[in-house]
Amino acid sequence: MTTSDIDSIAMMDRSTVMHPFTHLKNHASGKDDGPIIIDGGRGIRITDAAGRKYIDGFAGLYCVNIGYGRTEVAQAIADQARKLAYYHCYAGHTTEGLARLSDRLVRMAPGRMSKVFYGLSGSDANETNIKLVWYYHNLIGKPKKKKIIARERGYHGCSIVSGSLTGLSFYHDYMDLPVSGILRAGVPHHYWGGRPGESEEAFSERRAAELEAMILREGPDTIGAFIAEPVLGTGGITPPPSGYWDKIQAVLRKHEILLIADEVITGFGRIGTPFGSHLYGMEPDLITSAKGLTAAYAPLSACIISEKVYAAMEQASDRIGAFSHGYTYSGHPLGVAAANAVLDIVERDGLIHYAAETGAYLQQQMQQAFSGLPIVGEVRGVGMLAAIEFVADPAKKLRFDAALGVGARISAAVRKRGLIARAMPHGDILGFAPPLIATREDIDEIVAITKEGIAEVM
Ligand code: PLP
Repeated sequence: MTTSDIDSIAMMDRSTVMHPFTHLKNHASGKDDGPIIIDGGRGIRITDAAGRKYIDGFAGLYCVNIGYGRTEVAQAIADQARKLAYYHCYAGHTTEGLARLSDRLVRMAPGRMSKVFYGLSGSDANETNIKLVWYYHNLIGKPKKKKIIARERGYHGCSIVSGSLTGLSFYHDYMDLPVSGILRAGVPHHYWGGRPGESEEAFSERRAAELEAMILREGPDTIGAFIAEPVLGTGGITPPPSGYWDKIQAVLRKHEILLIADEVITGFGRIGTPFGSHLYGMEPDLITSAKGLTAAYAPLSACIISEKVYAAMEQASDRIGAFSHGYTYSGHPLGVAAANAVLDIVERDGLIHYAAETGAYLQQQMQQAFSGLPIVGEVRGVGMLAAIEFVADPAKKLRFDAALGVGARISAAVRKRGLIARAMPHGDILGFAPPLIATREDIDEIVAITKEGIAEVM
């Protein structure tokens, strides 16, 4: 692109695009040095309009798992568009791709799964899953079981209900969220929440006991579901402490509370298993998935529904009629074609197993390079998800003054050197979620650039 092309696109963008998660005035005035025009991508690298290359250490937004520029996926989408760009799947209509994808997802998912319902984003899939929880409880004669427990620092999207489930207050401010009926469980982050000398197991036990106390306080007959990410994502990339999921699930089962696993990030190999639930022995009643499902080659989300929940809905249909929920673009053939082509690659190339191995290397290199630095509180992660949390004083666990923007400055310092690592929206945390195809050499480069960026800001 020529400089004048870049300038005119930048001007149009500043005057007409309302960007998500962006300081509106700084962008409109150009004070944020934006827009950054991204113009191409190949493998794990993207290129901006001025020709600068970056390693995408965050796979877009934890989603481009198979990397950029995969022509076989582009071809599959184009073939489908030529053959049949669209038909809906209401009232029993289907396409070959939709039936094949659903069969594949049910086989791939943990536990006893039965059916798949499609949308376009993680947010809408969470909305659907909450509606399914309410619907299910109405149909089995427990209409009071409607409250949903979500966790502090959980991220479940931005629409009205999914945004309410999200446990980060800046997503609620001035937007009249959360809506009522949402309860908040404590975040399972041992580094910040563990008491001196408390083991991870004991901390998990305490979190489970607090959860049970809340359930008893509210009345178990009023609580429909617990929703959580197997590994906290946007709230700070935080794997659960040991024993956490066993203990939480025991409490949920005892009080007949459904478990929704929000696998939008952890699905499809991100942490080295098909779903995050596999790694932690979770048996969800409902799964939310998106992102890695199509590796972001097209928008598509999938709610994967257990036999237990589905059977109750099917049984009720003679009595109540049709299941009245769905979107024009549910099961859109182009998204479905992308998903099938992406999952073909994931299977053919053994990408989940590869991500487990490369992920172990990523974790080891991160620990080795950054643990113990004078501004590093914790280095953590699992599989191809990692985070470095910066603090002013690691011995005293003192946070930096938020106004210093340490995480954002380190993210800018690595970007300048050709690496995208995300300053997480909460705290001074630098997040990494490279495409699953990254090699050990790529990881070495990510670590080396990060070292330089930290040194610049330290
Ligand atoms: N759930 C989780 C765990 C997510 O990480 C996200 C997005 O990052 C969402 C839901 C929302 O997905 P979307 O942005 O596609 O609506």
